[in-house]
Amino acid sequence: MSKVPSSRPVGLGIKRGLQHHCPNCGEGELFGRYLKVQPECEACGHDLSQYRADDGPAYLTILLVGHLLVAPAFFFPFMWETSPWITVPAALLVLTTVVLLLLPRIKGGFIGLLWANRVTKDQAA
Ligand SMILES: [Zn+2]
Repeated sequence: MSKVPSSRPVGLGIKRGLQHHCPNCGEGELFGRYLKVQPECEACGHDLSQYRADDGPAYLTILLVGHLLVAPAFFFPFMWETSPWITVPAALLVLTTVVLLLLPRIKGGFIGLLWANRVTKDQAA
């Protein structure tokens, strides 16, 4: 059963996008592949290709990971006391994993935000 709202609440759009679902109905899958947005929703037929997130999700992911993981990591003494031959590869592994897990969720939320505010590629100049 499709749940297409008459208005477009921002929180609903972001929530559905974070869950990789179509922001319009909340049922169809938003992504066909890792970060590839479906041209249209398989459940409600909404045109998903009109929302261009561009670099926004990447910037937001870097901002969040940098402020919530990288900066606080330097408050722990093991970052200074352990050999860089251990900390650098370990940090790269953790950061790469976190970024790869966050990026599609943030892109989904970003598209949900664009959906809620009716920002389409036709408005971009
Ligand atoms: Zn849909």
